[in-house]
Amino acid sequence: MKRTGFTTTSLNVPYPKSDPHKALQMPLYEAVAFEFDSAEQIEANFKGEYIAHVYSRTSSPTVEYFELKLKALTGSNGVIAVSSGMAAISNTILALTKAGDNIISGSRLFGHTYALFHQTLPEFGLDCRFSTLRDETEIEALIDKNTRAIYFETVTNPQLEIADIEMLARIAQRHHILLIADSTVTPPNVFRAADFGINIEVISTTKHISGGATSFGGAIIDHGNFEWKLNPNLANYIEKFGKNALIAKIRKNIYRNTGGSMSPQTARFMSQGLDMLELRVEKCYNNCLALGNYLRSEPKVKAVGYPGLEGDPGYEASEKYFGGVPGTILSFDLESKEACYRFMNQLKVVRRATNLSDNKTLIIHPHSTIYAEFSNEERAAANIRDTMMRLSVGIENVEDLIDDIKQALEV
Ligand SMILES: *Cc1c(COP(=O)(O)O)cnc(C)c1O
Repeated sequence: MKRTGFTTTSLNVPYPKSDPHKALQMPLYEAVAFEFDSAEQIEANFKGEYIAHVYSRTSSPTVEYFELKLKALTGSNGVIAVSSGMAAISNTILALTKAGDNIISGSRLFGHTYALFHQTLPEFGLDCRFSTLRDETEIEALIDKNTRAIYFETVTNPQLEIADIEMLARIAQRHHILLIADSTVTPPNVFRAADFGINIEVISTTKHISGGATSFGGAIIDHGNFEWKLNPNLANYIEKFGKNALIAKIRKNIYRNTGGSMSPQTARFMSQGLDMLELRVEKCYNNCLALGNYLRSEPKVKAVGYPGLEGDPGYEASEKYFGGVPGTILSFDLESKEACYRFMNQLKVVRRATNLSDNKTLIIHPHSTIYAEFSNEERAAANIRDTMMRLSVGIENVEDLIDDIKQALEV
């Protein structure tokens, strides 16, 4: 059967139970606990024989509906919604590993992911091995019998470099290890991760999916294309749950016991965000192209980074993996840090803030903020220049953004 388009699918995912009022919005169930008809029914529930919501830290109807929507939209095996992007990442790694294991990760990472891998998890005996992920033999040299996953971000930020996903999938398959992508920057309407050999996606739904910085959330997406027998840490779950072993371990152990659940109110924002995702991303993308082309024409602008622009080093990879829509962040350079600050302070429409994928266009100087704790050598190694700014492009009318940038460049 022909698959319906992204937005049509999102708007028509059936509710887990039919609504008595036939409401056209999934009602918001802001309840902590759910009642049973009899003592026997509760017993059956606790034995796993009668499935129902019990207590909202573990599952609840409005959150379940968001999970079902994301599952339908990604054609995946299972989805778990959690309280933040960091909760998605930490829950996934905790479920897959134990002390003595290791993972291999790209070295250019979202800052708190880097801190999780570099500081927090090593204290529990997990070895995180960093790599540029550019060289096949270098990556293979890091793999041993305790390697449980290769982890990377689809587009690094603010460098806007696109991973060689085909190569990573080849290595992961050859060594029978899991491939995990943080695909936050390239949401599921532009990137179909399973088509490129990715097994698990982790997403900060705080970004594109929340519908414009409405609330915090995260999602873990299991594409159902990994043989869980290859991971000894899932042995206890395979017999009973089969291909749902990872989802079951996260739900019945890690996520439940560490308490990182998404709130029902947030899930409602997220579901609505999915309905409008395609519309919003298209608008942001068109704004990115227009701004990128305009910035390229300004003599004061020394460099523009956006893999959606022809001539950008990431252009071909963006076409191959993301249908030409490599997220909605761009970067550009002025002649000096002072020129950047002067420019930023003059902006009236563009806001100075550190989020991504808001409806508003946001600007930041990464060298002095996100990378403030890094040494100059570390910043140079990460290609973070003090002449560079990052623009997360929103849905404003693009003429107003261009006028704003133009007047600020004149000062
Ligand atoms: C924001 C972000 C995260 C963390 O998500 P939170 O929702 O802030 O916890 C992880 N990865 C990437 C790529 C991000 O942009």
